[in-house]
Amino acid sequence: MERESLLEPGSTIGIIGGGQLGRMLAIAARQMDYKTIVLDPDPDCPAGQVADGQIVEAYSSRDAARELARSTDVVTYEFENVDADSVSAAAEMKPVHPSTSVLRTAQHRLHEKTALLKAGIPVAPFVKIESLADLQKAAVDLGYPMVLKTATQGYDGKGQVIITRVEDIEHSFTLLNNRHVELIVEQFVPFKMEISAICARTADGQTATFPPSENIHRNHILDISIVPARLPDAVVENARLLAADIAVQFNVVGLISVEMFVTKENELLVNELAPRPHNSGHYTMNACDTSQFEQLVRVLAGLPIAEPRLLSPSVMVNLLGEVWEDTDGDPDWARALEMPGVSLHLYGKSEARVGRKMGHINVVADSVEDALYIATEARDRAWRRSR
Ligand code: AMP
Repeated sequence: MERESLLEPGSTIGIIGGGQLGRMLAIAARQMDYKTIVLDPDPDCPAGQVADGQIVEAYSSRDAARELARSTDVVTYEFENVDADSVSAAAEMKPVHPSTSVLRTAQHRLHEKTALLKAGIPVAPFVKIESLADLQKAAVDLGYPMVLKTATQGYDGKGQVIITRVEDIEHSFTLLNNRHVELIVEQFVPFKMEISAICARTADGQTATFPPSENIHRNHILDISIVPARLPDAVVENARLLAADIAVQFNVVGLISVEMFVTKENELLVNELAPRPHNSGHYTMNACDTSQFEQLVRVLAGLPIAEPRLLSPSVMVNLLGEVWEDTDGDPDWARALEMPGVSLHLYGKSEARVGRKMGHINVVADSVEDALYIATEARDRAWRRSR
């Protein structure tokens, strides 16, 4: 395979999307003296605050995407609900990683699951739903419970409903069909754990996978990531291999984040792909010798990637808008930082809303149990909920 041309320090990375992932990518880029320019409609977006420049335009603007490509040496995106056509417009001018075709697949649950199945990657049984009759038939084939999802525009549990009995079918179909988007229904997986693994792949085919994290969600939003995941070594290794297999088969250049279910029998089923850094990989910023953001900078710059090592057990807890709401906008960071091994990461968002990701706390400790205790206690202290 051809080696991607090397971008020297001082070159510029274009980032479509100005959220926290773009912000942490821009900080990692700056560390190695790469410049960044962000495309985001919000002039005060988290990434724009730390980038070298920002184009304040809608993600759907092809002209803005072209302008971004013109002013940079390589382009990436930091969330997958960006307009794929504007990403394509950028790709006509400069390399875009991961490719638009990876993005399009990851944007559409049905295409994603179909591609995974074709690649021999285990997924929960699923069916494409175009009519009420399709859903009624799927119930017979898949059994209950099933999860009906919109094929596009779903994230953090939005756009999905669990169907537990025949009486739910019509109502659930009407509820999601109203949005005029394609639907998919999946067998409900009675998983014992959710995990994710992030694999980096370079243009010349080198891969490296971060240690998988055990993920605990609250209200469908990631709450806590625990590393190493509390699973047998062989299962963890399988998760790494699956993520790397997907990176190779989908020809990813950049990062691919793979969310998986672990069944009671320790079988892995892939639920979702994200071709970008992932919330569950934030622990790498403090617990690995290379963070997911540095790794992406290396890929984008055409540099060799690291084989990331976990230096210590680690736990990440998300800081959602609730922490600000409940403390009248004044979380007690000083008390949180009294705890050992705590790192505070805040995203510079001025408006706190319930469920909005405002920051996270990373903890490194001698054991996962210690890290878990310290991380939740530190958050409670900031939240003024501990005594
Ligand atoms: P998703 O939007 O597909 O990432 O799903 C959000 C969350 O819903 C997942 O993290 C799971 O907790 C749950 N979920 C989604 N699909 C399934 C499924 N087929 N079986 C069981 N739980 C699911």
